[in-house]
Amino acid sequence: MRVLVTGGAGFIGSHLCELLTARGDKVFVLDDLSTGRFENIEHLSDVTCIIDSTLNQEIVRDLVREVDAVFHLAATVGVQLVVNHPIRTIVNNIQGTETILEETCRYRRRLLITSTSEVYGKGANAVFNENDDRVIGPTHRHRWCYAASKAIDEFLALAYWREKRHPVVIARLFNTVGPRQTGRYGMVIPTFARQALLNEPLTVYGDGKQTRCFAYVGDVTPALVTLMDRSDLRGEVYNIGNNEPVSMEALAKRVIERSGSESDIRYVPYDQAYGPGYEDMRHREPCLKKIGEAIGYAPKTSLDEILDIVIADTRNRLQRDV
Ligand code: UDP
Repeated sequence: MRVLVTGGAGFIGSHLCELLTARGDKVFVLDDLSTGRFENIEHLSDVTCIIDSTLNQEIVRDLVREVDAVFHLAATVGVQLVVNHPIRTIVNNIQGTETILEETCRYRRRLLITSTSEVYGKGANAVFNENDDRVIGPTHRHRWCYAASKAIDEFLALAYWREKRHPVVIARLFNTVGPRQTGRYGMVIPTFARQALLNEPLTVYGDGKQTRCFAYVGDVTPALVTLMDRSDLRGEVYNIGNNEPVSMEALAKRVIERSGSESDIRYVPYDQAYGPGYEDMRHREPCLKKIGEAIGYAPKTSLDEILDIVIADTRNRLQRDV
């Protein structure tokens, strides 16, 4: 197959490119390198990388015409980035997806769009089911512009499916981690791993009792490929994630322990971390029934295994920097 991966130089995108090239696909990457890095894919000789934005409709059209299928991962992501650059977040995420939908529909190319667990917002459900109501904060709290922009992407994709039978499927990714993820835009595990290895205090935001479930990127990307390959799953939304909740306080302790660090924990109020008026969600766990039934997905990698992989990767990167 000939495949386009938008955002292919990013953390998840680069792992997806690895998987696609390993099965013999010809892969094109469209990435503006805003948060992605060329180093993430330079080891993949079969990948052609075009450095441009999904907002450039002509480039998107030329590329879409050349391929059989498009994985659309390009987006402005990372809580820190979203809070600091709300205009960029809204425009990139909505206009970029609109362009991809328009062009893939024009040439009738198969499309997978990655969405996010953020769309569930701050609902208090024990687990989030694809059909649950969404609880999103007010518009003056910038964090929510990410959830709102990705929800619009989902609405639009499902509208294209309903009105034009455009072959599109949506993957709602929960917290995903693994090698090459950077902590620069707020992601907690690479941040903790780096702090621990440098023997700096681990910055736990708020009271640290908030929980998340972390999925390993190597479990997530094969699910994306299967969702794309299965023509009977079009027009549907699927959660992808892990079911092992951990509080940020417990996570920090585990990272310190597994990395043999001498760090301690520093509790940082949310206002100080993200600016005034920040809202976090207390718990976030996916219901994985739908994707389990559809493609037999079940997360394989435990949190301890994930932490060992990320700590080893961070150690390598720190050594390289030195
Ligand atoms: N967090 C933290 N310390 C950090 C970075 C993040 O305690 O240095 C917290 C953050 O407030 C959130 C959780 O870790 O409660 C997960 O944050 P991340 O940005 O990785 O993903 P989110 O689930 O917020 O999208």
